[in-house]
Amino acid sequence: MTYRADNARYDTMKYRRSGRSGLKLPVVSLGLWQNFGGTRDYPGAMEILGYAFDQGITHFDLANNYGPPAGSSEELFGNVLARDFRPYRDEMIISTKAGYNMWPGPYGEWGSRKYLLASLDQSLKRMGLDYVDIFYSHRFDPDTPLEETMGALAHAVKSGKALYVGISSYPEKETREAHCILKDMGVATTIHQPSYSVLNRWIENDGTIDACGELGIGIIAFSPLAQGVLSGKYSSGNKTGTRGENPNGSLRASHVEPRVLEAVDKLEAIARARGQSMVQLALSWVLRRTEVTSALIGVRTLDQLKDNLGVLDNLELTPEEVLAIDEATRE
Ligand code: NDP
Repeated sequence: MTYRADNARYDTMKYRRSGRSGLKLPVVSLGLWQNFGGTRDYPGAMEILGYAFDQGITHFDLANNYGPPAGSSEELFGNVLARDFRPYRDEMIISTKAGYNMWPGPYGEWGSRKYLLASLDQSLKRMGLDYVDIFYSHRFDPDTPLEETMGALAHAVKSGKALYVGISSYPEKETREAHCILKDMGVATTIHQPSYSVLNRWIENDGTIDACGELGIGIIAFSPLAQGVLSGKYSSGNKTGTRGENPNGSLRASHVEPRVLEAVDKLEAIARARGQSMVQLALSWVLRRTEVTSALIGVRTLDQLKDNLGVLDNLELTPEEVLAIDEATRE
């Protein structure tokens, strides 16, 4: 049966403007990094993606290399668009990125104009789209002049293949430089996508979050649940059925070492006192900063998505609660 979106889809979600742009994003966005690759069956993916859109999640985040295998998330999402989401294209913000390894040889990764624009064309083809809403430089390339990388982003906008552009994981200094270069080219840096969570505060420590606030760049925080660690499920020591199960996966042993799990355990009491689950506490913490436009989650199951969306019932943290969270997670 073809998907039909719920008429009540905009009733509960909250939207924030990305920096000083006109683009509004849901406070919870959904990424297709690891859970929507080649091994995910269509009905299983559609159950989650359809429910997300029914709940007002208008933003779906992809990248050229998402899968596994690389490219398969965009192919899957292309199928979803063709079969079920096409009538809602104008209600959606679809992003993609280029920066990590995609094909052999010197033009298959990093930040050259050659790579970025070829990759964008490939992404559009895989998704069956004429344009993406946001195109990102996925990582700063120290060996390519920033003017060239930003020039490729500006070209994507000027050629109509992207409506907005962003940068991902750029440190503070490079964020400022990218913003200036794009501004000179008449293009706004609409969004920055860094990792950010209670357990990972690098954007606070290096000043990226303040720079984005000052420059009017919105922030969409990836891995706000620290890849699931902030759900508390790793405290039992049982990794079966989790991202941590794969010893060569992105969740490394250092992410779940005893020191980290002790801190996470302390957060449980704070969440309980607020009548929230631990993931909801983690999301409300990321969203406490006005610079943060959206928390970019990943989910393996529909139940996880439902749990995470419960954050909408209690987004506000008191200064005392923020202090208690700082205390619990102090190094
Ligand atoms: P999260 O921190 O939200 O981690 C998601 C994982 O946490 C899920 O796969 C699941 O893991 C677990 N989880 C989620 N909800 C729950 C719950 N309610 N209870 C228990 N466990 C839960 O984010 P991701 O690391 O997945 O990243 C999110 C998105 O950010 C990506 O899809 C991608 O779009 C983007 N991203 C961008 C990067 C960049 O360089 N720009 C890098 C990484 C991500 P499990 O499999 O164990 O069930």
